[in-house]
Amino acid sequence: MGHALAGVAVSWVNHKDTKARGNHNGTKAQREGTVRRLYERWGGGLTVTCAILAAAPDLDLLFNAHRTYTHSIGAVIIVTVIAALVARWRGLPVARVALTCGAAWGSHLLLDWLGADTNPPFGIMALWPFSHGWYISKVSIFDSVSRRYWLPQQFIWGNLLNVGWEVLVLAPIVIVLGLIRVKALARLASEMPRDHHTAE
Ligand SMILES: [Zn+2]
Repeated sequence: MGHALAGVAVSWVNHKDTKARGNHNGTKAQREGTVRRLYERWGGGLTVTCAILAAAPDLDLLFNAHRTYTHSIGAVIIVTVIAALVARWRGLPVARVALTCGAAWGSHLLLDWLGADTNPPFGIMALWPFSHGWYISKVSIFDSVSRRYWLPQQFIWGNLLNVGWEVLVLAPIVIVLGLIRVKALARLASEMPRDHHTAE
C-alpha cells in the first residue's frame, strides 16, 4: 500500500507529461470519456506502471528470497535498462521513462530500509551484486509487516494500523506533488498554441 503510493509520487515528480497536456480546443477532446481524460491527466500508464513497480520487489516472497536480489541497486539498474528499452521500442522519451521507473523501484528499497524488521538478517541486501551485506536504517519510520496470520489480533489489526500509518506519512507527499502537477498542467494548457482559433 505504502509502496504503491510512493510509486505514484515518484511518477508525478516529473510532471512535463506530454500525454497529459491535453488539447482542450478540439471537439475530439470533448468527445473523449471523462474517465479517460482524468486518467491521462493524472499520469496515465506511467503512473500505474510506477505504482506496480514500487510494490513489485516484494514478489520475491513467492520465491522465498525476501529482501534479497529484488531489493538491491542491481535490480534498480536492471529495471531502468528494461524501461529504457521498452520506452525506445514504444517511441516514448527514453531517459525520462527509464529514470522514473528506476526511481519507482528504488523507492521500495528506501521505504524498506526505513522500516523495522523482525526477521534476521535485518534490512535489505541493498548493494547486490557489489556486496551481499544487509543494510537497515538506524531509525525506523515504518513498523514491520506481520505475516503471522495465525495471530489474527496482530495480523489484522496490527497490519491495518501499519497501513494507516503509511498512508498518514506518504499521503501528504502525494497530495503536495499532485497539487504541483495540477498547477504545472494548468500552466502548460495556457501556453498551448491556440491553432484552432487562428483560422477565425
Ligand atoms: Zn520489500
